[in-house]
Amino acid sequence: MKLKYMKQEKMPSDILASNPIISGRGSCCDDDECFADIPENVPENDPLALGKLSSAVYQMLEGIGEDTGREGLLKTPERVARSLRFLTRGYSQNPEELLKNAVFTESYDEMVVVRDIDIFSMCEHHMLPFFGKAHVAYIPDGKIVGLSKLARVVEVFARRLQVQERLTQQIRDAIVSVLNPKGVGVVIEARHMCMVMRGVEKLNSVTTTSAMSGQFITSESTRSEFLRLIKP
Ligand SMILES: [Zn+2]
Repeated sequence: MKLKYMKQEKMPSDILASNPIISGRGSCCDDDECFADIPENVPENDPLALGKLSSAVYQMLEGIGEDTGREGLLKTPERVARSLRFLTRGYSQNPEELLKNAVFTESYDEMVVVRDIDIFSMCEHHMLPFFGKAHVAYIPDGKIVGLSKLARVVEVFARRLQVQERLTQQIRDAIVSVLNPKGVGVVIEARHMCMVMRGVEKLNSVTTTSAMSGQFITSESTRSEFLRLIKP
């Protein structure tokens, strides 16, 4: 179904009022593929949010002086809207709940490290991507958590508008609050497109942030073991 706001003579606000439901499935390059397996009731497909975003993107295109009627841009408002909903879907997910569902009682008390977790996030200042790797470690105190859940927690926080510093701390705090372990260490290394693309031109600069708790703060040897284990 073609969206009404794609017709140039219509203003986005009129369209929103007359047709807030967006039912077409746009996607990158060609349609129906990227979003084909997303069910209707997930945040990516929330009609009201998609309507607001599409209309905003339409105005952005006008703002940068583009011809909103040309072929390549006809479905861009909807594509960008869906893409943004996907890239920020972490808002609708609760990382603590996610962890709680995979906690097991276990006496293992050595360091657990999951390294090289891919992160793709967006800086809240420019809404441009930053991406890189997260490394997460903890020392259990009677409770362990499914390893894949650590990566999922990273993803939930990354899929929001972020600053890298807060992202790092939120991951640490979620693990502390659910597992109450002897210590948590989180290190993130990332490249920020707002630095690379906007004329700052630090093409290869990597920003590193860390957040620690418990033994990762009090024990020099614990901290250096962690840092040694995550070295490339
Ligand atoms: Zn930025």
